[in-house]
Parts: sequence; C-alpha cells; structure tokens
Amino acid sequence: MQLGELTRALIDIESITGNEERVGLQLLDYCSALATRYGGYAERCEVEPHRANIFACWGDRPTVTLSTHMDTVPPFVPSREDAEHIWGRGACDTKGIIAAMLKAAEALLESGVRNFGVLFVVGEERNSAGAYHAAAQPKGARYLINGEPTENKLALGSKGALRYEIAATGRMAHSAYPELGESAIDKLLDALARIRAIPLPVDELLGRSTLNIGTIAGGRAPNVIADEAVAEIMIRLVGDSTATKDAIAAAVAGKAEARERIEIPALRLGSLAGIETTVVAYTTDIPAFGGAWGIPFLIGPGSIHVAHTLDERIPKRQLDDAVGIYQKMVRQLLTESK
Ligand SMILES: [Zn+2]
Repeated sequence: MQLGELTRALIDIESITGNEERVGLQLLDYCSALATRYGGYAERCEVEPHRANIFACWGDRPTVTLSTHMDTVPPFVPSREDAEHIWGRGACDTKGIIAAMLKAAEALLESGVRNFGVLFVVGEERNSAGAYHAAAQPKGARYLINGEPTENKLALGSKGALRYEIAATGRMAHSAYPELGESAIDKLLDALARIRAIPLPVDELLGRSTLNIGTIAGGRAPNVIADEAVAEIMIRLVGDSTATKDAIAAAVAGKAEARERIEIPALRLGSLAGIETTVVAYTTDIPAFGGAWGIPFLIGPGSIHVAHTLDERIPKRQLDDAVGIYQKMVRQLLTESK
C-alpha cells in the first residue's frame, strides 16, 4: 500500500478514544507482516479490555522508537483527497503520522537498519492511558520520536499548565450591617489581586509564563454579605513550578484556599542537527512517558491548527517529507547511541 492509500485506509477506520481496537488490529497486521519479512516481532499490549497498544521491534532492542497515538477526537469524518491534501478525522492527528512512520520503518528495514521499533498507543486525546501503560513497561529505548503535527519542525519545547480553584468563605449578614458578617467576595478579590501581582517567570526558549482568571462566581444577593466565592485560574508554565506555587500559597494566605487541580509540566525536548525547529503550546503524551522510553523528540507532518476541526487535513507534500525525516532521525540517533 502506498503512503496516501495507507493514510486514507487508517482514517477510514474510526478510532475515537475508547474505540481503538479495530485500528490497533490493523496496525498489528501491518507490523506483523514487516516482522515476518525482516526478522522482528510485533505485539499487542493490553491497556484495558478491547484497548491495546501496538509495539513492534526489529533487532536486539528498540534503541530508537517511533511513536504516536492511534485514537482521535470525535466526530468521525471519512477520508477524501484533492491534489494537495488528504482530508478526514485523524489526517494529521495522527493517522497520516502513523502511515509516515510505518513507511519510514519499511524503508529503514529494507536498507538493513535494525535496533529500532514502533509504538502506537491508545488514549492520548483523553488521559494518555496508553502512554502511562507503556511507561510502566519500558523496552530499553534510548530515544523516543513522538509524532504530533508540528509541520515537520522539531519542537524544542512546550508550555505546561497549572490549574487552581481559589475558594473563599465568609459569614452571611444583612448588607446594612457588614460588621456582623464577613464577605467571601471581598476576600476572594483581595486574593486574586495579590495573585495578579505575582511576577511570573520568563524563559528564553518558551517565553512568558501567563496567568488567566477564567471563571469567577459567588454570593447570593446584592443585600446579603457573601458567604462563599470561588475562581478558577490557569497558569501556562515555562519551567519549574515551585516558585509559582509558593507565591500562590502566600498570595491567598488568610484570604482564601488555593486548591491545585491539574499540573502538566513544561517540557524541554531534544534537538538534532539539520532539522528546522519550533516551540508548541499544546501538550502531548510525552509527560506521561516520563522518560521511560528515552530522550523525547516531537515532530510530525500537518498543522495543529486544523487538528480537532472538521477541516482536518494533511498536505501530501509534508506527509512525503515526513517519511524521509523519520528515517534520517532514526539513523542519526542510532549513530549517537553508539
Ligand atoms: Zn495528537
């Protein structure tokens, strides 16, 4: 099957998160055929009933592993193509990337390269279940080439995220007698004002850490002193979060409670000579791998701006180029590992 055909065949197997079984079996078939032909092995690693990662390896161990996810966001959109693009759900996120990785693997094997693997995981679009599972079963990889749409540029890093709920409590009273109550809203506003004054770090590579107060709610009526108020804030991280967390704790002290909800760390990723670079704002499976599959790299054809939209597509030209880029990276990293 040619690259374009393979991409369309994969798009046409619906694999919305939770329903990855069918596409997984198709990938297992494809990898098993390559394993038989070139002396490797391919296996299903069950994450949950009917959901499994697919892993294949050629040589002694997968020193370099090409990896991406096989699930997509809803809704399903079947494939179509015109002169320049292949369209459909997963075209760039990530059925086209899977196809490019398989074609790169085939070409590498044909030219005698060994000691690399491919790993396709479930669940990236929801909770990285597949990547966490794979991280608990490392296979001795030293480099992980993770595929997400970066327009074939090597991502040097991605911002992280830190989400809090800031909650204040008070005591109700008649608004004519504020001294009898305690306003949760006043306390929340004080806490938020102090939070906004926190100087956030700036990183040379990732840029500025930013703060957004996304929601704010509280109170009961204009003539009642508010007994509760809560805000949700999101900080985009560009480095270690310790100082920021300490500053938040100090800012709310005596006024409100800061409840941490989610933290996804900022990432520094590997670079390689001869490949154009970029920085991305989205998160990937890479934090879930936690380094268990080696030093991570992030690169793939297509644009994140059309991923998750009904106009999802991938330029055929970038798809072709990706096959060459993945081969070049595998060769280069195998050499570096010696
Ligand atoms: Zn993706």
